[in-house]
Amino acid sequence: MQVEFLPSGIYLPEIDLWLDNVEPCGATWISHGHSDHARGCHGKVIGTSTTLRIYRMRLWLPEGETEPEILPLEFGETLDWNGSALTAFPASHILGAAQLLVEFRGERLVYTGDIKLRPPLCGNTTEPIPCDRLIVESTFGLPIYQLLDRNEATAQIVRFAKSCLEDGATPAFIGYPLGRGQEIVHVLCQAGICTAVHGAIAKFIPIYEEAGYQFCGWEAYEARSTAGKALVVIPSHGNVLEASGKNIRLAYVSGWAALDNARSRSGAERLIPYSDHADFNELLSMVAQCAPKHIDVVHGYTLPFAKILQKRGYSAAAPQRASERTNIEAEG
Ligand SMILES: [Zn+2]
Repeated sequence: MQVEFLPSGIYLPEIDLWLDNVEPCGATWISHGHSDHARGCHGKVIGTSTTLRIYRMRLWLPEGETEPEILPLEFGETLDWNGSALTAFPASHILGAAQLLVEFRGERLVYTGDIKLRPPLCGNTTEPIPCDRLIVESTFGLPIYQLLDRNEATAQIVRFAKSCLEDGATPAFIGYPLGRGQEIVHVLCQAGICTAVHGAIAKFIPIYEEAGYQFCGWEAYEARSTAGKALVVIPSHGNVLEASGKNIRLAYVSGWAALDNARSRSGAERLIPYSDHADFNELLSMVAQCAPKHIDVVHGYTLPFAKILQKRGYSAAAPQRASERTNIEAEG
């Protein structure tokens, strides 16, 4: 199957379908709702209904522009598309995130989008899909990235919050606007900890609630009223809290927390290396289970990870330079 790796996305010319194109186009698959994948005013958009709902929330429609045609494809469903069969599978990354299996003329191509193998705090657990060609991300595609599973991450989040509150301090967790933020809030709510949530994170909570996740007892973050609560804020707000002069203790929940310099970069006292992306061993495990004839590595440490795969005997390439894509939320 022909695959073109272009700055705005990946194009499959034989079936006239883009994968995560962020520039306006005729038709694109949208793997998940992060803004470096779900944006642009397209003719047709295909994705899970959760992802397409987030895409609609983000979409700014210029005056006179026609609404994109929304084509929901739920997990396990197959859509006939220009002589191919498209099937969606969970990707574990964030709520609604999906891998796409494209079957065309006897060939199986899998595009993972952003993915992790281990169960997320909120969302569907993935499964590796046997295929001929695998297009996989490599955000944490170096051996230094060994991340926590969800049970250990949950325990560390709750333990830090409770110890801060017992000491009379205010624990503040730095999460991302979509995905990690809601997961941290969910963990704190489940532990019965009173939690105040930054608006950029709170606006997506109803989508998680509709999917069955319970968020009891949270409230909107207000700078004047933080005592006795755990805070969940976006990265840019961490500095604001630090400068507030209050007894705030920061925790950074991210794959980047695995780096030696994470404490100085984030200003956080507690580093919790948990991510919605696969760590190095998960990536290797997924590649082995998919058993593809060829692997294209996109996003993150593309060239180093492709070389690691080559040394392990795989046919692998890094066709799209990471610098060609814009990662607005710098998620990890
Ligand atoms: Zn993502």
